[in-house]
Amino acid sequence: MYKLLKKQGSARRGEFTTPHGVVQTPVFMNVGTLAAIKGAVSTCDLKEIGCQVELSNTYHLSLRPGDKIIRKLGGLHKFMNWDRPILTDSGGFQVFSLSKIRKIKEEGVYFNSHIDGSKIFMGPEESMQIQSNLASTVAMAFDECIENPSPKDYVQRSVERTTRWLKRCKVEMDRLNSLPDTINNKQMLFGINQGGVYDDIRVEHAKIISDMNLDGYAIGGLAVGETHEEMYRIIEKVVPHLPQDKPIYLMGVGTPANILEAVERGVDFFDCVLPARNGRHCHVFTSEGEINLLNAKYQLDDSPIDRGCQCPTCKNYTRAYIRHLFKAKEMLAMRLCVLHNLYFYNNLMKEIRDSIDGDYFPKYKREKLEEWNQ
Ligand SMILES: [Zn+2]
Repeated sequence: MYKLLKKQGSARRGEFTTPHGVVQTPVFMNVGTLAAIKGAVSTCDLKEIGCQVELSNTYHLSLRPGDKIIRKLGGLHKFMNWDRPILTDSGGFQVFSLSKIRKIKEEGVYFNSHIDGSKIFMGPEESMQIQSNLASTVAMAFDECIENPSPKDYVQRSVERTTRWLKRCKVEMDRLNSLPDTINNKQMLFGINQGGVYDDIRVEHAKIISDMNLDGYAIGGLAVGETHEEMYRIIEKVVPHLPQDKPIYLMGVGTPANILEAVERGVDFFDCVLPARNGRHCHVFTSEGEINLLNAKYQLDDSPIDRGCQCPTCKNYTRAYIRHLFKAKEMLAMRLCVLHNLYFYNNLMKEIRDSIDGDYFPKYKREKLEEWNQ
């Protein structure tokens, strides 16, 4: 259940109550594709760096270790020792991005495993069954994620199919939640808005799915080839047509600047691999923008990654030391940078929430963008 606490312009400050606790929004979900954050960050670490929601991947976990195995072990929460909310994506994005050979039919998608090439079928019902086995807090609807740009007539037909799939997802989710042996029978379902870069298709689709009384609504198919300006324009067009009493989630976005722009346009949930991925490559976010610690100028730099940062890395280690660890290919290097970057994102969201609470979000946004651009 979403409760709007405060609004400043279109920016929303809210609370999302789930069977696994209350989420303060706007929020960034920390991406642990295979039930772990890449870079040796555990769920114990996640609590220390202020993570509210962990995100895992349906497609990947269904192949390894297998959703039926996770179900036997009591579900994803127990498996990875995380008692706060978990969102699982539907697998749709991976089916379309990882598999070169695939056939899309009305019933679902036929494709080959990216691990061993074996034939797999996934449709709305299969995706819901896997997510029910994983027992995540929020399940995402199974949809087709279209590349941008794609021809308009194709996008139109794809979106219509995605709507039919969403109806099937809802029926299947209701059925699974009614079974006596379902681990989380209060599993929530978010629908996904699609429509490429075509405003009219996006808006029409937003109106149709808004009538389905889902637990939340995502904007999908962005940050897949279009410009930032196109992305912001689409968010502006779509958000007013989604239910205002439900959370709005912008999938796979983005940079700290993208997040500020989207919050300003009414988005509540975010996820992105960027902070963990960049951290693994020695790129860290600071109050003065992103820096690469491998740069020679940090060899004798005994300051933390970011002065004023309260993360476990910055409280204990210097730039020079972390640079040395990267050069020496020590695993600790990645871990320290990923911890810092995730803390940076979680803390950014906290500051955004505080700024909406305190009525100074526009000023906060302007100052942050200026700082990062210096
Ligand atoms: Zn830090």
